[in-house]
Amino acid sequence: MAVTRTFSIIKPDATRRNLTGGVTKMLEDAGLRVVASKRIQMTKEQAEGFYAVHSERPFFNDLVSFMISGPVVVQVLEGEDAVKANRDIMGATNPADAAEGTIRKTYAESIEANSVHGSDSDENAKIEIDYFFKPEEIVG
Ligand code: ADP
Ligand code: MG
Repeated sequence: MAVTRTFSIIKPDATRRNLTGGVTKMLEDAGLRVVASKRIQMTKEQAEGFYAVHSERPFFNDLVSFMISGPVVVQVLEGEDAVKANRDIMGATNPADAAEGTIRKTYAESIEANSVHGSDSDENAKIEIDYFFKPEEIVG
């Protein structure tokens, strides 16, 4: 298996509760390495663009409002099969369905305020990394 990269967001519900370190520790313990990281306040336009794939979903407007309700930490993670490793440690979208030991089971408040984002494919990981990071900001 190859070393690849994925894109992660520590969402506003987690930054608000001072869980940046707690979430990052779980990512690192899962074998992922943070090779880029910055804390930002997303604009409405940025959040709408990032979640454009969900623009027809009924929860889209609420999701955008939530994602700009406070700071987020955007990160590039590197590791063996990083997309899957990250999705595995994140757990299911709805924390009620998430397995024990996952980030969402441990920390998420609700299906919306679920503490973390993770890319769902290598192709989307590249698009999402490029959306937030310049190449020189990624130091592997
Ligand atoms: P994931 O983040 O697990 O890849 P999705 O891509 O399906 O999940 O959804 C993107 C984000 O939209 C979720 O992480 C969550 O914050 C929000 N979301 C998804 N489904 C719902 C829902 N039914 N109600 C409210 N928010 C939702
Ligand atoms: Mg998704």
